[in-house]
Amino acid sequence: MEKAVSPLDVALQQVDIAGKMLNLDPNILEVLKRPRKTLVVSIPVRMDSGETKVFTGYRVQHNGSRGPFKGGIRYHPNVTLEEVTALAMWMTWKSAVLDIPYGGAKGGVVCDPKQMSTRELEALTRRYTTMILDFIGPYKDVPAPDVYTDEQTMAWLLDTYNQFHGYSVPEVVTGKPIAVGGSEGRREATSRGVVICAREAAKDLGIPTKGATVAVQGFGKVGANAAQIFQREGWKVIAVSDSASGVYDAKGLNVVKAIEHKNKTGKLMGLPGAKTITNEELLTMECDVLVPAALENQLTRSNAGDVSAKIVVEGANGPTTPEADRIMHEKGVLLVPDILANAGGVTVSYYEWVQNLNRERWTEEEVNQKLEQKMVKAFHDVLKLSKERDVQVRTAALVLGVGRVAEALQLLGLWP
Ligand code: NAD
Repeated sequence: MEKAVSPLDVALQQVDIAGKMLNLDPNILEVLKRPRKTLVVSIPVRMDSGETKVFTGYRVQHNGSRGPFKGGIRYHPNVTLEEVTALAMWMTWKSAVLDIPYGGAKGGVVCDPKQMSTRELEALTRRYTTMILDFIGPYKDVPAPDVYTDEQTMAWLLDTYNQFHGYSVPEVVTGKPIAVGGSEGRREATSRGVVICAREAAKDLGIPTKGATVAVQGFGKVGANAAQIFQREGWKVIAVSDSASGVYDAKGLNVVKAIEHKNKTGKLMGLPGAKTITNEELLTMECDVLVPAALENQLTRSNAGDVSAKIVVEGANGPTTPEADRIMHEKGVLLVPDILANAGGVTVSYYEWVQNLNRERWTEEEVNQKLEQKMVKAFHDVLKLSKERDVQVRTAALVLGVGRVAEALQLLGLWP
């Protein structure tokens, strides 16, 4: 079996590629390759059994030259400091590609939320929040949900922050429930951005989207919503998967039924009328668009040569290793990279923050319209650059993102 590639190694290789293309001053590159601050905390939680368990948590702030740090919080047994650092770095470039005035950050707690009760998760979230309290803030660092955290997690985080401040500070966190200051359209924003990218990529390749086939890996906030939007917009979703397995129907799945089945049984397996497949089969199946929307390191040297999709849209962060990237590029696969493809989430998080700061409420139509304009512009800026410079779309996105951050860093200068 192929050794898992470190996401941080991947992220650092990418900065080098962009740095070379941009002819960046090595002194600037040196700064960009390091996180600005890293916090490691031990989070004691009284479990339902009465025993106290101490969890390890992280918050990494990568670069804040263009604005406050911004990034999600992940709860997963495989969270590592390296992973969180890579994810923070990708947030920096992502905000810059979309030209959003944020820097990049990420948080993570090593835990298995599937094995924890709601009360234990609430205790973990509140204690983690108090331990990163001085680190975060509306003008400092604004968290959001990521893998296995959700709107409820953000509501607990907000309430904990509020208790320490004595008043409500909704702008300290995004991706929270609408009832406590969340934005219309945030829940689907990442997925909406994924579908916009798929649509624009299909247009570029001359593939009609009506009836075009889609396979989605990961059936969480990004994957399930993306599958639903694809279907709503006339695409044919032929396969979806979760961590246990996938389901497939060549005639097209009913995504709403798949969501109901998953909610009822806890898994996709056994969906009536669909064939059970493995995640590996999903990744290499014949389709027009493949959306990896689960975790890192899914498309690697060992399976990239078998990818049959014409377009890959990275809903997840870091699903493709650099070698897989190269292999798919040589095969002519059009790959829309994470720092562009899943940027709908941070874009609407930014809109949520702006609404909170101004004590405003925008309609869903307003939010979606702004998101559409922002994503389409970023997509075409990146695609144009990739054609002009004859490079992969990922390289073009990195050149744009890293270039903007480097410019800000240079203008601000080095203190002292
Ligand atoms: P989530 O927790 O809502 O869903 C994760 C999904 O992945 C679940 O369906 C889970 O079953 C599945 N999964 C886990 N391990 C898997 C495996 N080994 N194989 C196949 N499926 C597996 O998380 P999410 O928010 O949808 O995040 C998914 C990805 O999208 C992550 O890479 C995250 O960083 C990225 N992302 C999320 C957002 C957002 O707004 N939520 C924004 C940008 C990027």
